[in-house]
Order: sequence, then structure tokens, then C-alpha cells
Amino acid sequence: MDLYEYQGKEIFRRLGIPTSDGGLATTPDEAKSVAERLGGPVVVKAQVLTGGRGKAGGIKLADDPDDARAKTEQILGMDINGHVVRKVWIEQASEIAKEYYLSLTFDRGVKRPLFMFTTQGGIEIEEVAEKHPDALVRLHVDPFEGYQPWQGRRLIFGGGVEDPNEQKQILAIVGKLYETFVTTDAMLTEINPLIVTPEGEVRALDSKFTVDDAALFKHPDIAEMRDLEAVPPEERAAREKGVTYVKLDGEVGILGNGAGLVMSTLDVIALAGGRPANFCDLGGGGDAEGVVDALEVITADPKVKSILFNVFGGITRCDEVARGILTALDRMTIEHPIVVRLDGTNAEEGRQILDEASPENLYVEPTMLDAARRAVELAA
Ligand code: GDP
Ligand code: MN
Repeated sequence: MDLYEYQGKEIFRRLGIPTSDGGLATTPDEAKSVAERLGGPVVVKAQVLTGGRGKAGGIKLADDPDDARAKTEQILGMDINGHVVRKVWIEQASEIAKEYYLSLTFDRGVKRPLFMFTTQGGIEIEEVAEKHPDALVRLHVDPFEGYQPWQGRRLIFGGGVEDPNEQKQILAIVGKLYETFVTTDAMLTEINPLIVTPEGEVRALDSKFTVDDAALFKHPDIAEMRDLEAVPPEERAAREKGVTYVKLDGEVGILGNGAGLVMSTLDVIALAGGRPANFCDLGGGGDAEGVVDALEVITADPKVKSILFNVFGGITRCDEVARGILTALDRMTIEHPIVVRLDGTNAEEGRQILDEASPENLYVEPTMLDAARRAVELAA
């Protein structure tokens, strides 16, 4: 799960990484009152889950509250790399003497957190890695040993920070970033830029923060930060029902058990000349409850013209799934044609159950390709 800048900064602040004082606004008037509270010049920052906001015009300095109001008006509604700006973060403008870069990410290759530090901050780190590879200091932390202060010193000296006052502050921030990373089960924490003010104060001016989805259950406070408005309404409804669903652009609704099977179903639909309307994984179950929930989510998309139900029975038995489908169709009204392909454990029984009940809009096909062709044909 990706966090907005303001959310990442809130966690930074909680764990003692210095940031600027600020507030969130969703309207120009709110922005003005936040700026009034902060006093002095402020910076208005688009809150979107993508980088490069500065270049795209999503970050603007404002001299006073009225200016903050005007700048917010310009930024709200802006499209930044396909993300529409719905909120802005207003914070006290910083004077910048230097821009550094500090990140801690999970390096899957060596299964260890990786620190990266450079005094060439402010620009994209990929660019630094390409043009000034020597300026980028990389250092892995052994998760069993944990972070050791010598590692922080190595980053700072390796990066060429000479001012003792800066060294001291950055060293503290490095340690706190490790603590933040571990205690939140983060996959990525990035501060770009980490600034030094003309007075020599070091502060996080930006935050990029990704938390491991699989660990969110341990962090209800972070899970709660998920912005449901940034998600398409269908996906929001799916999440509320516990259905794994991703909206796509086509006309054939897809329902399968197991992410791998659903992925290949998308391919087979394309092969048959159609376009999938969604990805939807029923998971291990095939009970009526799960089928109803999934069908409700899929049919809420007005573009869906037919539905392909692709099931491979392993632990889940096809006869159970067949009964689940029939119960679901009893409980809800579905006008769409539904094509079913059952294979694996008890497939024969499953098909027989469907054949006997034979609801009007249900088509049973023997193979995945046949089923895909039929579903595409019915969607035309
Ligand atoms: P990004 O473009 O999405 O990475 O957004 P950042 O938060 O990193 O901001 C981009 C750039 O805007 C920074 O590198 C700074 O140069 C500038 N910027 C952001 N906040 C301030 C501020 O408070 N004062 C000044 N002078 N510049 C700022
Ligand atoms: Mn940045």
C-alpha cells in the first residue's frame, strides 16, 4: 500500500524524523485557513500517489494565505500522470541550502533492507545512479543484527557530508528511518529531498512510503489511511466484500478460482478475440456466498456483456462450485449470459448438476478455449 506524502510525513513525525508543520486541504478556502494558521509563506503540494509532482506543476510556493488559496485552485483537479489531484498538503515553506537523498528499501535480491544516500538529492535517483554512480552510497543492513550506528556514519562519510552539525542530524535521521521501516513493515521509505536549510537544519521535505500489504493487519492505523476515493468505485465495493477484483476495460466479465488461473483466463479471452472486463479471483472457496459477492461486483460494471466462470477443482470440488453457482443464481437476478468451464476434482458431477438445473442463461463448455470463445461470442 502506497501512502501519500502527508501520511508518510505523519509517520516520520511520530518516530522523530523532522518535517515541516502543515495541514491538509480539499478546497481553496480550507487551504487559505491552513495557511493562515501556519503564517508566513507556504508551499502547496498536490497529494497524488505518483512522483514528479514538482515537474508537473503540482508544487507551488505561495506568499500569503490568499496566494495559497489561488495556488490551490490551480492545483486541485490537475491531472498528474493520470492521477487527479483531490487534496493538497500545505506546509511552511522551507528555505533550501542543500538537497540530499536518503532511502531505505527492501532489496528482494539479497533479502535485506538497503540504504541509499547521496548529496545529489532533489532529482530522480535513477538519474543519479546513471550519471554519478560514485555519488550514490549503498549499504545493506543485516536484519538479524539490526541497524548499527557505524552504518549511518559510513553512509554520511561515503556521501561526503563534511559539516559536523549536518552529520549529527543525518545520523539520527538514518537510525530513525530504519526504526520507521521496521516498525511499520515498510517495503520502501524515501526522503527526496532531505534538505539542509541555510541555518543548517536538516529536514524531510518529501516522503515516499510503501507498506507491505501482507503486514497491514498488524497496523490498523496505517490500513485506515487507505484512500478509498482514489480507487475505482467497483474496486471499492469489491474490497468491502472481500473480493479480489481489478477493473479492466473489456466486455467479458471473468471469475475464476486462483490468481494464476484467472490470469490465464484473461489471455485466453484475448486469444478468442475478446476483451476481459475485469480480473476476479474467487480464491479457494466456491460457496454461494463468495459467488454472489463476486457476481454482484462484476455485474455492477455496465460494460460487462457476458460472464466467464472458469474453475479448476483442486481442494475446491467442482460439484460444490456448481451448487454455489446455482444457489447464487437463485438468490440474485442476472440477465447476462454465463459460460461455465469446470475441470479437475468432481468436474463430471459439477457439469451434471448444472446440466440438470440448466438455467436459461447458463452455458457449460468442456474446455477453457471453448468457454472463452463462447463468452466472447455472447458478448458481441
Ligand atoms: P516531487 O516532485 O513529487 O518529488 O515533490 P517534492 O516534494 O520532492 O518537491 C519537488 C521540489 O519542489 C523539491 O525538490 C524542491 O526543490 C521544491 N520544494 C518543495 N517544497 C519546497 C519548499 O518548502 N521550499 C522550496 N524552496 N522549495 C520546495
Ligand atoms: Mn520528491
